[in-house]
Amino acid sequence: MTDFTAPCEEKITQDDEAIAAAIEHTSIPALMMSMIHMSGDASLMDAEIKPGMAFMGEIQGFLSAEHQSDIRQQALKIICEYRDRGCTLPEAPEKSVIHKMMQFIVGDDVAEEYIDMMIEDTSIYGKDERTFSWNKPVNDNDKKNFKVLVIGAGQSGVLAGIRLNEAGVSYTIAEKNTGVGGTWWENNYPGARVDVANHFYSYSFEPNHDWPEHYSRQPQLAAYFDRCADKYDVKKNIQFETEVISATYISDSAHWSVVLRTANGKETTELYNAVISSAGQLNRQKYPDIEGINSFKGKAFHSSRWNWDLDLKGKRVAVIGTGASAFQLVPEIAKSAGHVTVYQRSPNWMFPNDRYHETVAEGKIWSLKNLPYYGRWYRFLHFWMTADKTHQLLFTDPNWEHKDRAISEANDFTRIMFTDYLKAQCGDDAELLEKVLPTYPPMGKRTLQDNGSWLGALKRENVTLVTHSVTAVNESGVVDETGAAIEVDIIVYATGFHASRFLWPMKITGKNGIDLHEQWQDDPKTNLGITTPNFPNFFCVYGPGNNLGHGGSLIFYSECQVRYILECFKTLLENGHKSIECKPEASEAYYQKFTEAADKTVWAHEGMDNWYKNKSGKVVTTSPWRLIDFWQWTKQPDLSEFTLD
Ligand code: NAP
Repeated sequence: MTDFTAPCEEKITQDDEAIAAAIEHTSIPALMMSMIHMSGDASLMDAEIKPGMAFMGEIQGFLSAEHQSDIRQQALKIICEYRDRGCTLPEAPEKSVIHKMMQFIVGDDVAEEYIDMMIEDTSIYGKDERTFSWNKPVNDNDKKNFKVLVIGAGQSGVLAGIRLNEAGVSYTIAEKNTGVGGTWWENNYPGARVDVANHFYSYSFEPNHDWPEHYSRQPQLAAYFDRCADKYDVKKNIQFETEVISATYISDSAHWSVVLRTANGKETTELYNAVISSAGQLNRQKYPDIEGINSFKGKAFHSSRWNWDLDLKGKRVAVIGTGASAFQLVPEIAKSAGHVTVYQRSPNWMFPNDRYHETVAEGKIWSLKNLPYYGRWYRFLHFWMTADKTHQLLFTDPNWEHKDRAISEANDFTRIMFTDYLKAQCGDDAELLEKVLPTYPPMGKRTLQDNGSWLGALKRENVTLVTHSVTAVNESGVVDETGAAIEVDIIVYATGFHASRFLWPMKITGKNGIDLHEQWQDDPKTNLGITTPNFPNFFCVYGPGNNLGHGGSLIFYSECQVRYILECFKTLLENGHKSIECKPEASEAYYQKFTEAADKTVWAHEGMDNWYKNKSGKVVTTSPWRLIDFWQWTKQPDLSEFTLD
């Protein structure tokens, strides 16, 4: 059982004045929900003041200053009464009231199918609803003798460890780095920060009330996962600087024989009953396929391998690529570098977000720590705004005529909105606008959060934006397709990752010597992106098709997948089975369903390249599903889809 901290961390001791000052900075809709928990009186929802529809990151429900002030006054009275009676709470609201509260806080219809998912994700009844529990007694020795290897100690690997601890099953996490956090450990380039709101981008059972920014920086993210690994006693099971080289299934004994290599090159072979790959999609750097990359005499590195020994002051830097990583690092390095030349192959659509670099006000941190369930509702508010609300916008309208610029009328409307945002920033600079205005439909690539820092950087005197293709790197710098060459001291390759080469470069061999990469080729057939035929007791988290492109948080997705995997282990151990293997017909059916949906998404549009597609242009990394559907499908494995031995 996890140590859960809801409804709040601390008892209120402050005087009325201090409380009044603190709640100046609260989210009013979340505060109203906390008021209902404190007072037990839900009639607040029937009064005149109601939040508008949650949308575009708005956390104040579009309420007027007057209405906000009115609610704060009502809240002060309720909070002081709650404090004065020793911070005791009345009975928790019933499910029907919770549903009404959900609809009220987001000013929107929350369909019945979402209630349980959101109760779970917010832990609104003060307990971790996704915690593991056995259905029937399993002998401790059987649990201990069932050994699991988890590959990677990023967010999903640590999560797997937490749940395996709850189950009492033995496990080892092999982590190639020296620390916890995976992508959050590796990507420490200047300006790296999360672009999903942090009060939602955290484990459902481990809220962090101390996020310093709404979208915190990499060190805070890495520290959070490290803290979780400590708190939930996962670290003792992590073997750092240990890479998985290969895994081979032994059918006779239903074991995986895994070759692990440590930093000093020593290889060992260990036997495991099951393997969970938490290797993720974004950890194998991709360099551009251009001439002369090794001839450069200056310093060159990938954005995820930042060379912190270098002082950029006064240096000439070339940045190749303008994806999410470059988008964050260019504004930061432009502050100190002598000159930055940015090579852009395609521009980005960006989403205006004033809070992107904003710190979390002290009063809000106080509210998160002291007001019961405030943090849980604040999480819900963010979840709802980014979850399935935008899902339908992903799909191409077959009757829409202007497919060159948009996939549907709504997508075209988004294009106009985003274009206006770019125009406003470019002002009179038509040349800049032409360079930074995408021609592909909005959402075709990952839409980036922006507070003006990207164009602010491009407009600096020490930054040049080049939109010609890079053709070569020579001893002294970069050459583009026009033949123009620039001399630089440093080249940063912000050129992304081999996302669709799942589990590469590991060699995974299943039943009858079948190689996973040969079976999958460039177009994996799996069930739910988690299991695959011929590979019994082998599971992926954040595997094929399980990236999120339209909203939600990968942590939510990982929690769904890890629960499903643990339920598979439960089936094995409670029933004395040795192995569980996905049936080919199940993965075939899922593949057909996935392909049909993914082919209709904006990501499949021919107008642009993105890392969601494989080499032949098919979307393979990213999920086309509503979050609610994936949550439903992963609550329990459908055992008719598996062969049990
Ligand atoms: P990316 O999105 O794949 O971007 C790679 C960039 O390099 C693109 O601009 C691409 O151009 C360009 N490029 C690739 N090959 C090139 C070549 N030969 N010549 C010129 N340009 C070339 O990679 P990323 O920026 O590292 O981001 C990857 C993903 O990581 C993101 O989508 C996101 O999911 C995650 N990420 C998240 C955060 C966050 O949460 N804050 C931050 C960073 C990354 P094209 O667009 O034309 O292909």
